Amino acid sequence: HAKQAGRGRFSLYTAAMGERADQRLRLETELRTAIKEGQLFLEYQPKVRYPERDLVGMEALVRWHHPRGMDIPPGDFIPVAEETGLVMAIDEWVLREACRQVGAWHEAGLKPVPVAVNMSLARADVDRLVHNIERALADAHLPASLLEVEFTESQMLGQNVRSRQLVDRIRALGVRLAVDDFGTGYSSLSYLADFRFDTIKIDRAFVHGLPDENEGRAVIQAILGIAESLECSVVAEGVETEAQAGALSDMGCRNMQGFLFARPLSAGAFELELDRGRVGEGAAAVI
Ligand code: C2E
Ligand code: MG
Ligand code: MG
Ligand code: MG
Repeated sequence: HAKQAGRGRFSLYTAAMGERADQRLRLETELRTAIKEGQLFLEYQPKVRYPERDLVGMEALVRWHHPRGMDIPPGDFIPVAEETGLVMAIDEWVLREACRQVGAWHEAGLKPVPVAVNMSLARADVDRLVHNIERALADAHLPASLLEVEFTESQMLGQNVRSRQLVDRIRALGVRLAVDDFGTGYSSLSYLADFRFDTIKIDRAFVHGLPDENEGRAVIQAILGIAESLECSVVAEGVETEAQAGALSDMGCRNMQGFLFARPLSAGAFELELDRGRVGEGAAAVI
């Protein structure tokens, strides 16, 4: 055994590499099928106002119901989809489906709550994206003010010129703009002022260590200060405990999203929350 270790390690290494390339290719093929055959679906995670727990928004999050039975989270397929360009088709489907669902809730007379969709900038084509947003809104009879688009800070930074055009044109439609996972991308403050987002979403890395950790607290306080002077709203992501929520609220951040309030919910389960207008302290908050 021992004398084969070197060779064994080598073949294991190459086998793993081969498998990875293989897996990617298979994943890509399966993902194409998934889009065509309706294996994607959405969950909706509430955004609440704390401490009242009033429902103030929702985020649509894509999932893939794989024919072999498991549901695959976006972290496991969006990166591959970004590399192959398939992500555009996924984001398009998500946009249309989220608008359709929220448009239907709106027309049914439920409380008008804005929906946010995540969009990758990795392969974004500005004209196509803007056109798709317009069409999705029109087809769903959804007011533009009820749609928000989230771009991650790190992707915005990598795509400066395109980001600029995209932001300007989306804003011109009356659609809201959010910068996601904020604080992790090392952007300058002037950049924030320049782009004029409606919402800044504080990355959960800074929320995680509250109330004890001072680094997170300092970053959050700085973000809240900028947001106030730029008149944009702030949502804290990944709020899991009352202690975190209390600390955020003490700092003046009252819009929150996280497992403390609700996990991402099926459309059916979300509709019940929408009906109540408040996010329950009961079953939905159980981790
Ligand atoms: P994100 O946009 O920052 O979404 C928030 C993620 O945090 C979601 O993971 C959500 O389930 C999770 N989360 C929410 N509350 C908590 C909490 O209290 N604690 C913890 N630990 N996590 C929480 P999910 O659904 O797995 O999505 C992961 C990422 O995948 C998203 O991060 C987003 O960047 C991307 N994504 C999701 N849907 C889409 C989509 O339709 N298109 C694109 N391009 N990306 C998407
Ligand atoms: Mg997001
Ligand atoms: Mg985020
Ligand atoms: Mg994220």
